[in-house]
Amino acid sequence: MLIDSRSNFWDIDLLKAVFDQEDVELISALPVGAPTKEDTLDWHFTKSGKYSVKSGYHTARLDKLETNSSFIGPDFNKLKAHTWKVQCPPRIRHFLWQILTGCVPVTENLRKRGIDCDTGCARCGALEETVNHTLFQCHPARQVWALSQIPTVMGTFPTDSIFANLDHLFWRIPSEFDSIAFPWIIWYIWKARNEKLFENVDNDPLEVLRLAEREAQLWHSAQVELHTETQASVEFPNRPQTRGVSLDSDFTGYRCFVDGSWKDSDKFSGIGWFCTPSNGEPSTMGAANLRRSLSPLHAEFEALLWAMKCMIGADNQEVAFLTDCSDLVKMVSSPTEWPAFSVYLEEFQSDKEEFSTFSLSLISRCANVKADNLARKVRTEPLHITYVNNIPQEWLF
Ligand SMILES: [Zn+2]
Repeated sequence: MLIDSRSNFWDIDLLKAVFDQEDVELISALPVGAPTKEDTLDWHFTKSGKYSVKSGYHTARLDKLETNSSFIGPDFNKLKAHTWKVQCPPRIRHFLWQILTGCVPVTENLRKRGIDCDTGCARCGALEETVNHTLFQCHPARQVWALSQIPTVMGTFPTDSIFANLDHLFWRIPSEFDSIAFPWIIWYIWKARNEKLFENVDNDPLEVLRLAEREAQLWHSAQVELHTETQASVEFPNRPQTRGVSLDSDFTGYRCFVDGSWKDSDKFSGIGWFCTPSNGEPSTMGAANLRRSLSPLHAEFEALLWAMKCMIGADNQEVAFLTDCSDLVKMVSSPTEWPAFSVYLEEFQSDKEEFSTFSLSLISRCANVKADNLARKVRTEPLHITYVNNIPQEWLF
């Protein structure tokens, strides 16, 4: 939940994980109304000028009403739906969505909301600063696009329509051109605009482009690595090094992968679990960071205990837990030999009673990549975080 149901206020840690710092400040300044039923990443300006989190359905309806009258051209809803599929980090994807829904706070939009400000462009003096002007038509933006590998063609791209420009970037760049960096280019043009506006810093267009391209390359190469790791883990049921009843194909309960992540220089240890029901229902997951425990093994045990509590909470009674930590398996099978962990082992024994079927099996590290990712990513977060079931996938994998 973006809104903490107990305090009925924004979950600031989660906002920070998903949105850019500037957006976090904007969002967290918004009053929270009645508790919402479902999570949604959507937020936008309403006619009254107040922010609110709306259901996806209502937002879609509103956008349709707003755009049908004034816009004929590329399919707006198709464009909007595609923003969530663009290959880039969630915060940039969210920014693309904001562009399409008119939520970027350029002066034109601020004025529409009744905020008294100069509508002109601070960079070139154009009479009106629209989103499209800032990102595609203002001189610095034009220079960045001209320097990029994306071909600019008079009358085709960039144009004076934000929809046509995004439509072009989404679908119409010939495959011989490398267009993967476009979300970052948009993002860093926007950043450069803000730096000029708020700090009077002039960024060299070539520098802006290089930064965007470098970030795009780094992100894409990280995705390739993660994808390769995930591919390896998908094959785990056939791997000879995995063992235990839990991996039998006729198992009817839940498989819960657990992992802890620990580094002696870090403030937190990370714990994570990833649960796959055998009946084909969607997987669930959890990640949390705790003050750093005594050792990596403590973190592993904490991950298991927390996963067990989450499974109990979800009323999953038949669970096969899977770990890549062989000591953890040894501990629970011969607890008397591990007195240093007696407190944990007692808790383990009493929680174990809640399950009708319980097992803990050793799997290979590469079969445990999802739980490992959860634990590792959350370990390095600067603030305390606990997520269950609602983690943005892009943030993790
Ligand atoms: Zn301008």
